[in-house]
Amino acid sequence: MPFSRIFSSFTLISLICVGGLFQASPVSADGPEAGQWQAGVSRIVITPRENMWMSGYGARSEPADGKIHNLYARVACLKPDHESPAFLFVSLDLVGVPVKMAETLSADFAKSYGIPRENIMFACSHTHCGPALDHDLSWMLAMDKKDWQQVHEYQKWLNDRIRSAVKTAVADLKPAVLHYGTGTCGFANNRRPPIGEGPIDHSVPVLRISNLKGTIRGLIFGYACHNTTLGIQQWCGDYAGFAQLNLEDTYPDAVAMFFTGCGADQNPLPRRTMELCEKYGRLLSVSVQEVVKNEMTPLAPAMSATFKTIPLEFATAPTREQIEDKLNNGDRYDQNWAKNQLQDLEDDRRIEMIYPFPVQSWRLGDQLTWIALGGEVVVDYSLRLKKQLGEKTTWVTGYANDVMCYIPSERVLKEGGYEGATSMRYYQKPSVWKAGLEDKIIDQVMTQVESLQSR
Ligand SMILES: [Zn+2]
Repeated sequence: MPFSRIFSSFTLISLICVGGLFQASPVSADGPEAGQWQAGVSRIVITPRENMWMSGYGARSEPADGKIHNLYARVACLKPDHESPAFLFVSLDLVGVPVKMAETLSADFAKSYGIPRENIMFACSHTHCGPALDHDLSWMLAMDKKDWQQVHEYQKWLNDRIRSAVKTAVADLKPAVLHYGTGTCGFANNRRPPIGEGPIDHSVPVLRISNLKGTIRGLIFGYACHNTTLGIQQWCGDYAGFAQLNLEDTYPDAVAMFFTGCGADQNPLPRRTMELCEKYGRLLSVSVQEVVKNEMTPLAPAMSATFKTIPLEFATAPTREQIEDKLNNGDRYDQNWAKNQLQDLEDDRRIEMIYPFPVQSWRLGDQLTWIALGGEVVVDYSLRLKKQLGEKTTWVTGYANDVMCYIPSERVLKEGGYEGATSMRYYQKPSVWKAGLEDKIIDQVMTQVESLQSR
C-alpha cells in the first residue's frame, strides 16, 4: 500500500497507537562513607534481522522494508553498595513490554544474578516503527500464521538479546556517582478533543550516572508523549530514538536510556515528517543536556523497591451473542477481538474479567521516588502523583513491565473516546475498565511509597 493511502487510513481508523507478593529489598546507607554506588551500562541492537510486521498502527498492510536507524535494548545496572542485590533498568525501543517477556526474563535474572522482581524495571519508548511482539496488541495486525511464526521467533531472539545486554551491564559494574534533575520540553500536546486543550506534563526527569572522574556513563530520561511522529515502513525509534542517539553522540562514553511517562493521551504535534521527528529528538536531547550541564542533586548510595500486581476489573463481560454479532458483522478488528473472546470461552468457559495490573516503586537516595505503572497511562496519573508526593522528587514511568492496554483516569474513562473506551478491542480486552481504577492504582502507589519511606 502506498504511504499516502496508509496515512489516510490512519485518519479514518484513528491511530491505533494505539501477582505477585508484596516484596521488598531494603538497602540503606548513612552517607557516602557508608557505601558507594556501583553502575554498569550496556546497549545492544534489537532491530529485526529480516523484514517483518511493524506494531503500533493497525492500518499497515505489509511488513517493514528498511530502517532509518537501529533499535536498541539499553540497560543500566545499579548497586547502592557491594552487599545488596543489583537493580536493573531496561529501556526498549519497542511498542510495548509483553508481560510474558518481562516475567520470563525477571525469573532468569533472579536465578543468574540474585536480582528480585521488584528490583527490575522494563520500560519502552512505545515507538510505532518497531516490530510486532508476542503480545495481545499484535492481533490488530493483518498477519497470517506464517507472520505470527516470525513474530514468535523474533520474540525469542529479542529475549536472548536482552539477556545478553543485562549480562554485559552486570559485568560492567564500577564505582559511580548518581545525580538527578528535571528539565522541560514542549512538543507534547494533549491529543483528546479539543486537541491541545487538555492537561500536559512537559517535565523531563534525568538521572545522570558518572564515574568517579565525572565522565558521564549513563543517562536515564523520560518524557510523557507518544512516539508517533512517524508512520513509515522503516524501523525507527521515532523522536526518542533520535534523542538517545543524539545524547550518545554528545557523550560518547554514555548509554542514553529513554522511558515513556504518562503520555497515553499525548502526541507530538505537528507530526508526520522525518524533519519534525529529528527536531523533536534534538529538542529532547538538548533539554537533557541543559539539566546535565547545570547543578543536579546528588543521590546518596541507597535504593529500595516494591512491586505488586493489583486486581483491576473490566466493566461488563460480553455475552456470546454480542461476541458472535461482532464476528459476523464487525470489521477486521472486531472479528479478531471476537475470535479471541470465543477462544477464552472455549478454553476457560468464561471470560477473565480481572487483570493483574503491575505497580512498582523505587526509592533512590533519601529523596527520589520513581513509580512505574503498566499500560498506556494517561497524563492525569503523573500530575496527581506529583502533586501528592512532590513535583521535583517524583518520577512516573508509564508503559512499564506490562503494556496490556490503555489506563484511563476516572475523568477519561467517563469521557470515553479512544483512550477511555474504543482502544480496548485492539488489545483484545473484554470491555472498558470498571469505574474506580484510578483510586485503586493511586492507593497502591501511596501504600508502596509509604512503606519505602518508612524504612
Ligand atoms: Zn499508544
